[in-house]
Amino acid sequence: MSTTIDEMPNTLTRPAAPPSSAIADARNLLRETAAALELDPGIQEILASPERSLTVNFPVVMDDGSIEVFTGYRVQHSGARGPFKGGIRYHPAVSLEETTVLAMLMTWKCAVLDLPFGGAKGGVKCDPRRFSQAELERLTRRYTMAIRPIIGPHRDIPAPDINTNQQVMAWMVDTLSQVDDASAMASVTGKPIALGGSQGRSRATGKGISVVALELLRAHDRDPAQTTVAVQGFGNVGRSAALALFEAGCKVVAISDISTGLYRPEGLDIAAIAEHLDHLPNGLLESYDAPGISRISNEELLEMAVDLLVPAALEGQITGANAHRVRAWAIVEGANGPVTAEADEILDAAGVIVVPDILANAGGVVVSHLEWVQDLQGLFWDEAQVEDRLQERMARAFADVAHRATEQGITLRQAAYRLAVSRVAEAVHWRGCTG
Ligand code: NAD
Repeated sequence: MSTTIDEMPNTLTRPAAPPSSAIADARNLLRETAAALELDPGIQEILASPERSLTVNFPVVMDDGSIEVFTGYRVQHSGARGPFKGGIRYHPAVSLEETTVLAMLMTWKCAVLDLPFGGAKGGVKCDPRRFSQAELERLTRRYTMAIRPIIGPHRDIPAPDINTNQQVMAWMVDTLSQVDDASAMASVTGKPIALGGSQGRSRATGKGISVVALELLRAHDRDPAQTTVAVQGFGNVGRSAALALFEAGCKVVAISDISTGLYRPEGLDIAAIAEHLDHLPNGLLESYDAPGISRISNEELLEMAVDLLVPAALEGQITGANAHRVRAWAIVEGANGPVTAEADEILDAAGVIVVPDILANAGGVVVSHLEWVQDLQGLFWDEAQVEDRLQERMARAFADVAHRATEQGITLRQAAYRLAVSRVAEAVHWRGCTG
C-alpha cells in the first residue's frame, strides 16, 4: 500500500527548524554538562562539532520536464558508540545549522538509552507539498544516491522525520538495493513491514512516553488510576501517548490539536476518539463531540491543574512567559524541545518535575534499533516481543537517569545529559585520537 504526500502529517504550517533559542539551548547544555562532568577540554571540543557534514546539490526532473536543483544534508555528529542513526526531514526550513544541532541531540538520545549508535540527521530543503508522488520519488532516489557514500547498515542508518514516512524509506532501500547487496534492508529503518520494518514502530514513541510516565508515577508511589493527564498534540506522538496512558488506566482529561482542545474532568475515552478520527479525511479533533466534553484553548491545556502534562506538538511551548502558570505536577516532553531553558529554571524552582525529551520521546529510536537488529539477523519478532524490549529499555534508562538525579540533587534533564555525555566521552577516551 503506498502512502501519498497528502497522507503525510501537515507539518509545513509550522516551522521545522528549532527556534534559534533551541540551538543556543543545545550548545549551552553541552557546555554546562561538560563543566559539571569536568570533562577534558579536548574531549569537549571533539563533542562540540560533528564528525562529518555532507552538503549535496542534486538535480530532479520535474513532471513538466524542467530541472530543479535541491540542496540536502547528512550530518554525522559522533560515531564513537556505533553507527550513526537519525531521521531525514523534507522541509523549506532545513539548513546545515538545524541539521547539525539535531544530529548532536540524536547522539545524546542514543547514549541515554544506551543504544549502540551515534547521532546523525539529514534533510532536504524543499516544500514537499508542491510535489507529485512521482516527483517525491525521484527527489528521494537522487538524494539517497547523493548521500550513499556515507550511509549503510554499519555506517549510518537513516529513518523518517518531518514529512518523510515509510514510503520514502521504502524508496531509499530500493535505491540502495540496486547498487548494494541485500544488506541494504538494514540501511534504513521506519520501513513498511513488508520490507523488513518492525512491528510496533508506529506506536513506539507514544508507548515509550507512557513507560517513562508510569515509571515516574511508580517512583513517587502514585496510582495511575488516580492520575490526570493533559496531552498537547494528537499526531503520531500525542495520539499514541494519550492512547497508551489511557490503556494504562490514567484519566486523560484534556487533549488538543491544531483545530481545538477537548476537556472532560471525568476523563476522555481516547480509544473512541482515535477510532472516530480514523474515519475522517483530515483526522482533526474539531469534529468530535460526546456528553460532558467542553472546548479549551491550547493555552488553557498547558496551564491546567493536572498530574501529568505531555506537550507532544511543537517546540518552544512552555517559555519564560507562561512557565509560572503551569500547574502540572510533572511534564513529560513528547515533542523535541517543548520547554525552553528559561522555563526549565522557573519550573525547577516551582518544584515541577520535567522528564526531558532525549529520554521521554526516545521510543521511536529504540524500536528503530530493534528493526535494524531484526534486519541484520533476518529473524523477526511479534509486536509483544518488540513492546517487551521497548518497555525494558525505556524503564532501565528512566531508572539510570532518576538514580543520578537523586544522587546528585539535580534535575532529570541535567542527569540525562550528564549520563549521555559521559557515556559518549568515555567511548571517545577509549578510542584515543593519536592514530
Ligand atoms: P505530527 O505532525 O504527527 O503531529 C503534530 C500534532 O500537533 C498534530 O496533532 C497537530 O494538529 C498538533 N499541533 C500543531 N500545532 C498545534 C498547536 N498550536 N496547538 C496544539 N496542537 C498543535 O508530529 P509528531 O510526529 O507527532 O511530532 C510531534 C513532536 O514530537 C515534534 O516535536 C517531533 O519532532 C517530536 N518527535 C516525534 C517523534 C516521532 O516518532 N514521530 C519522535 C520523537 C520526537
